[in-house]
Amino acid sequence: MRHTGYLAALMLGAVVQTASAAAPANGSASISGPDGRVRLTLTCAKSNGGVPTYTVTYDGKTIIAPSQLGFTSNIGDFEKGLSFTNVSTDKVSEHYTLSHIKKSEIDFNANKMVCDFTAADGAKMSIEFLVADNDVAFRYCIPKQNDRGSIRIMDEKTSFAFPEATTTFLTPQSDAMIGWKRTKPSYEEEYVLDAPMTAKSQYGHGYTFPALFRIGEDGWALVSETGVDSKYCGSRLGDYSAASGYKVEFPMAEENNGNGTPEPAFALPGNTPWRTITLGATLKPIVETTITWDVVKPLYEPSAEYKPGRGTWSWILWQDNSINYNDIKTYIDFAAEMGYEYTLIDNWWDNNIGRAKMEELIRYAKSRGVEPVIWYSSSGYWNDIEQGPINRMDSPIARRAEMDWLKRNDVKGIKVDFWGGDKQETMRLYEQIFTDADDHGISVVVHGCTLPRGWERMYPNYFGSEAVLASENLVFNQHFCDEEAVNATTHPFIRNAVGCMEFGPVFLNKRLNKGNDGGTVRKTTDVFEVATAILFQNPVQMFALAPNNLQDAPAIMMDFMKEVPTTWDETLFIDGYPGKYVVLARRHGTQWYVMALNADKKERKIEAELPMLAGKSVTLYNDKKDRTPVMSTLKVPASGKVKLTLQPEGAAILK
Ligand code: CA
Repeated sequence: MRHTGYLAALMLGAVVQTASAAAPANGSASISGPDGRVRLTLTCAKSNGGVPTYTVTYDGKTIIAPSQLGFTSNIGDFEKGLSFTNVSTDKVSEHYTLSHIKKSEIDFNANKMVCDFTAADGAKMSIEFLVADNDVAFRYCIPKQNDRGSIRIMDEKTSFAFPEATTTFLTPQSDAMIGWKRTKPSYEEEYVLDAPMTAKSQYGHGYTFPALFRIGEDGWALVSETGVDSKYCGSRLGDYSAASGYKVEFPMAEENNGNGTPEPAFALPGNTPWRTITLGATLKPIVETTITWDVVKPLYEPSAEYKPGRGTWSWILWQDNSINYNDIKTYIDFAAEMGYEYTLIDNWWDNNIGRAKMEELIRYAKSRGVEPVIWYSSSGYWNDIEQGPINRMDSPIARRAEMDWLKRNDVKGIKVDFWGGDKQETMRLYEQIFTDADDHGISVVVHGCTLPRGWERMYPNYFGSEAVLASENLVFNQHFCDEEAVNATTHPFIRNAVGCMEFGPVFLNKRLNKGNDGGTVRKTTDVFEVATAILFQNPVQMFALAPNNLQDAPAIMMDFMKEVPTTWDETLFIDGYPGKYVVLARRHGTQWYVMALNADKKERKIEAELPMLAGKSVTLYNDKKDRTPVMSTLKVPASGKVKLTLQPEGAAILK
C-alpha cells in the first residue's frame, strides 16, 4: 500500500536533536524554520499577566502580530495567570508518500519547540510548535493530571492578528439550519477578495477555513487547521476585532439540528488539532504547501487498494430526471466511450430505479469496465432531506447492512451528501462512515460537507469533499456562470491549497441544460473548462461532460479529456493572483501539464517561466479570438520563457 505509507509513518518523525531547559526568565522563547526565514516567538511573562501570545515574522517582517493563545476548559483555565516553566526543542524530519493531492513524494523538515505551562491551580498544559521553511503548525497538548482522564474545551483563545496593511480573502460561515432542506452550513458561500480586515462577515459568524491574508507588500499567509478527527470539532475564525484579530470559534449551537455540543471533549493525555499558517513573500508556498498532511498520520491500514480516476455524472446536467435505468445506462456507456473508470449514480436511485434494477445496472457498468459510485444522504436527524436513500448512513446498524449490500454487489465507491455541520458529533460520523466503508473495501466522496482537515492522509479510502460553491451552481444560477472564471482562479490559492475539492468541473455544453439549448449560459471558453480538469485537484473527478459532447464539442477537447489524469506527482506555482489569473504546472509521471487561466473580461498577455519545458516541443491548446479552441505545436526556448495570450475568461494548456 505505497499510497498510504501507514507502516512507514509509524516509524518516522525521527528526532535527531533534542534540548530541554527551564523557560527563559523574560518569558520569551523563539524558534526559526530550517532556512531561518520564518521566526516564531512565544511570550508568556508575569508582566503581561501570564497570557501566552505569539508572533511570526518572515525575513524580519511581521506576518502574525502579537496574538493570544490558550483556552478554558473544565479542568482548568489556560488563558492567563500561566507560569511558563520549561522549553524543549527538537528537529523533525520525515519522508512520506501521498498519492491523492499535489505531490507524491514529500520531505517534511521542521524545527520543533514545546513550551510547558502551569496554571495557578497547578493544572498543566503544553503548546507544541513546528516551524518549517514556509509553515507554522501548533497545537495544545494536555497531559493526564491527578485523577482527571478527560477534558472538555470550553473556549479557545487561539487568535491570528495581522499588521494594519493586511487585506483579506475570506468566505463567510453561514447561519446554521438554513438553505436547501436546512442543510447548511456546508462551506458553499462566496469569497470576498482583497477586503479590508474591518469588513463585516455576511452572516455575522466569521469565516470558514482556510483563510488567506495579504500582508500589504510584505507577504501572504494562509491560515487553516488539520488533523481534525472524531476527537474534536471543526473550528472557524470569528469576526475581526481590533483587539485580538481573528479568534478561533467552535461550531454554532444550532448546527446539527441543535444536537451535540459545540465544545469538544477528548481523553487525556490528548491534544487539540493543528492550526497552520503557511507564509512567504509570494503566493508560491501557499499554492505548494503540504503542511496539512505533513503533521498528520494515516489512522488505519487500508483494507483494499483504492483507485483514483475519472467519472461521468448524469445528475449534473440532466438533473433528478436522469435517475432512471435508461439514462444511467447512457452515462455508463458514455464513461466507457471516454475510457473513464467511474460513473456516479446520484440521489433518488432507491425510489426511481429500485434495488433490483440497480443490481442490474451495477452488473452492466462492470461489464463495460466502469465502476459505479452510489449516492447517499448522511441524514439522519440533522436536516429535512427527502432525496433517497436517507437513514442508511446515520446509524451503525443500518449502515453496516447497507454496506453489506454494496459489498455483495462489488460497489467500490459511495458519495455521502448533506452533513450536519462542524460539531464533534459530525466529525465522529465522518470517521465512522470512512472506517465502516474501508471494512467493505469502499471509497468515500462527501458533498454538502465541511472542509477536509488532513483526511487525504488520515483516511486512506477518503476520496474528496465538495465544501465549495461547486459546478451545480453553474447550472442553478447565471450569477455563478458570470463569476465562474473569478472563482476558478481563486481556489488554487485558498480552498484547494489545503484539501482535495470535488468540484465536478468541465462543462463543454454552451448552455447548461440537457439539450444544450436552454438554461444558464457558460461564459468561459472550452479551453478554460478543460484546464479546470487539471487546475482543480481531487483524486476522483466526476466531470460535467455530457454524451452530446461526443458530437457537439471540439474533438481536440474531448481527446484531451480522454487522456487527462486526476493525480499528480508534483505541483508548481508559476504565476497568478487570486480571482485574476493563475499559471500552474503539474506533473503526472514524466508528463508535465501547464495551465494558464484568465479571469478578466479582457485579454491578458503573460510571460511564463517554465523551466520544466525548456527546450522541449509541447502541444499548446489556446483560444482563438472567436473563442474556439486551437491546438498547435510550440517549441519552448532554452530559456523556458513562453509568451501567451489569454482570451477573456479563456486559458492555455501546454502539454
Ligand atoms: Ca452541494
